Amino acid sequence: MSTNWTLVIHGGAGIINRGVLTPEQDEGARAALTRALEAGAAVLANDGASIDAVEAAVRVLEDDPHFNSARGAVLTFEGKVELDAAIMDGRDRSAGAVAGVSTARNPVTLARAVKDHSPHVLLTGAGADTFAREQSIEQAGEDWFVVPERRAQLAAMKESADWFDVDMKYGTVGAVACDAHGHVAAATSTGGVTGKRWGRVGDSPLIGAGTYADDRACAVSATGSGEFFIRESVGHEIGARVRMLGEPLQAAADAVMAGVKALGGSGGVIVTGPAGDAVWSFTTEGMYRGQVSAGAPPRVAIYADEG
Ligand code: ASP
Repeated sequence: MSTNWTLVIHGGAGIINRGVLTPEQDEGARAALTRALEAGAAVLANDGASIDAVEAAVRVLEDDPHFNSARGAVLTFEGKVELDAAIMDGRDRSAGAVAGVSTARNPVTLARAVKDHSPHVLLTGAGADTFAREQSIEQAGEDWFVVPERRAQLAAMKESADWFDVDMKYGTVGAVACDAHGHVAAATSTGGVTGKRWGRVGDSPLIGAGTYADDRACAVSATGSGEFFIRESVGHEIGARVRMLGEPLQAAADAVMAGVKALGGSGGVIVTGPAGDAVWSFTTEGMYRGQVSAGAPPRVAIYADEG
């Protein structure tokens, strides 16, 4: 048993530098990250399980409009929200995920219900929304999810005729944790990329890509250009390097992010191991991130030079 519980969270990676964010955006994001760390830490400090901590932390970020998940999610080409989320428990590698859902207030909790109350791993679209209602998952509508800035972003994207999201100022959210018993877990939640269509699904809800947890190795949550993270199988690849090559977390995370970059992608990952060790690695100018551990208060950072 380890008493070194730790929780690491992210709120997306991208072209985030001091000139891009307003003071309100900077402060609002930091405050939300801190609240998410506190929510997860409350679980872990009371001998709770890492799977409960990552869900609690992600729920806070899903409810906060500074990030691209649930409330404040980016919009599809048709101006709708299609939300993706996943959660995985490193104890037994049980996992649940949803893609293209639009009625659960907290998609990570819906993913948790898929894991705990269905024989499946990944549910999509209308079927997943039906499952949410059957499971009495709290519902929300467009008035909750859609914030004006995302409408403006979609309009700007359509004008630029660039269908792919290049403005990743507010990103996907995720959490990884190791609890006092040395069990790891990961969760990720996102609206995907602005202007997505044709039922596009990114890496976040795909187990082994944007989300992965295995007590034999580590837990991983990713953010970035999802297509490249899928092709690199980021979560599983980091875990495999740790498990089979015995690499330290930082070396494994850096190597796999270099692989993403070599394919033409960008973004970042957060990783925790069963000894309570934790790292992040990103190829972008910034990544919203934070960490709290037994005996160490919450700290948050946005820009690359913040350490
Ligand atoms: N990885 C997410 C996706 O491709 C987007 C992000 O991290 O901002 O859906």
